[in-house]
Formats: sequence, structure tokens, C-alpha cells
Amino acid sequence: MVMFVRDFTLQAYASVIDAALKAGYDLMPVVDWLHEPRKDGKILLLRHDVDRWPQNALAVAEIEARRNVRSTFYFRTVGSAFNPAIIRQISDLGHEVGYHYEDFYTAAYVPERAIALFERNLTKLRRIADIRTIVMHGSPLSRYNNMELWKHYDFQKFGVLDCILSYDWSDFVFFTDTGRRFDSSVTNLRDSIGARTAHNVRTSRDLQEYLSERRHQYVQFSTHPERWNDGLFRWSQKWMVDRIANSIKRGICLLSR
Ligand SMILES: [Zn+2]
Repeated sequence: MVMFVRDFTLQAYASVIDAALKAGYDLMPVVDWLHEPRKDGKILLLRHDVDRWPQNALAVAEIEARRNVRSTFYFRTVGSAFNPAIIRQISDLGHEVGYHYEDFYTAAYVPERAIALFERNLTKLRRIADIRTIVMHGSPLSRYNNMELWKHYDFQKFGVLDCILSYDWSDFVFFTDTGRRFDSSVTNLRDSIGARTAHNVRTSRDLQEYLSERRHQYVQFSTHPERWNDGLFRWSQKWMVDRIANSIKRGICLLSR
């Protein structure tokens, strides 16, 4: 009989964190690194983009807090992701809360409108938590990358650093769960940060092994907490959505060749 083991459960996530801790990595939020990058030690930056289902973000935040681990949760300010009570709880657990911005897209690529919107949304989030870093949301249907706003304005004027633009990540190995596997390039159209990717690391189990063997000194691990579910219903729902999204993205890649 073939056993079907589900990946992308909260349990799988916890196992990755435990493997990193056991291997001696220092786990930290983005803000700590951007303000004080270090030369020695093994570093694992933990970043979570909260696009929807903020309850999942809280579950991830609790798993980490139980292990005295702090990480960064980037929240969108639109849709179901914007849940002030949950954002506050996550911040109270000691985690960093950042702004997951998409204002260039929302303002139909008009820079003046987009920057006004950015400021308003940042202020809205700052009423709940101290916001010191930001990262773009890769709006899947957008014509331009949301970071293009910074060709017209300087984010530092707003007292924030950008998770992608404020650091040269070329020394880092970058893992993202986009595409529901960690070695995906086709399905990961907008999430690359200019860091390296490790091949042959496809599943959470592979990632655990990668960290246990201390294969690289600087690692960034970026998740979408909505993807990590213990309950079978939510897990299957997200599994289906990912399958469809991956085939659409593959189609876009073929068309743009
Ligand atoms: Zn996003």
C-alpha cells in the first residue's frame, strides 16, 4: 500500500522550524537583519506574506512563539487579510508586522495616486502595530510590478525599509512555498528576490534535511500561511487552487516565450 503523506500542514511547518533550531540557525524577522546584518553564525530569516486567511498566520505565529522564534508577517490592507484583532495578536506575540503593499496596482499605475494610497494604508496599519519594513504583493494579474512605485518615490521617507530593495540578497539562498514546492521557477513569476535557489529541495522534508545538514549559512524562508493547513477541508481547497494557479502560470510562461 502506498502511504500518502500530506505536505504543507502546520505540522510540516513546525518540523522545518525545529530542524533549523536543532541545526543551530539563528531564526529572525526581516527587520532585525536589515538593521543589523551579521557576518558570522547561521541565519534563517522567516517571512510570511498574508494574502488571505489570517487565522492561518496566527497559527504559524503561535507555533513560532512556542519555540521563542520571532518572524515577519506582511499584511495586506485589503480583503480578508486585514484583520486588526489578529494583526494585534501576532504583534503581541513579539513578531514583526510589515506592510504587504499593492498600491501601484490598485491605483491603476498612476504614481501620485498610488503614493497617497500607500501612505494612507501604512497609517492604517500603524494604528495597530509598529511598521518598519514592507514588501510588495505580487498581484497576479497586474501589468507592472508593485515595486515600480519606487522609481517615482523613496520609501525611506515613510520610515520603512523594503524587504527586497533594501539589501543585496545574493549571498542568501531563498526558499518560497509559491508553486507548492520549493524549487519551482516556472510558477514563481514575481517572488524572486535576487537570491539563489537550491535545486533538489522540493518538499518540506527536503527543506528540513537541507537545514539539518547546514548546507548554507544564510537562508531566507518565505511562506504564505494560507497554504499550510492541518484540516483536510482547507488543505484540499488550497491544494486545488494551487493546481489551477500553477497551470495558468505555466500557460503565461509559454505565451511569453
Ligand atoms: Zn502576496
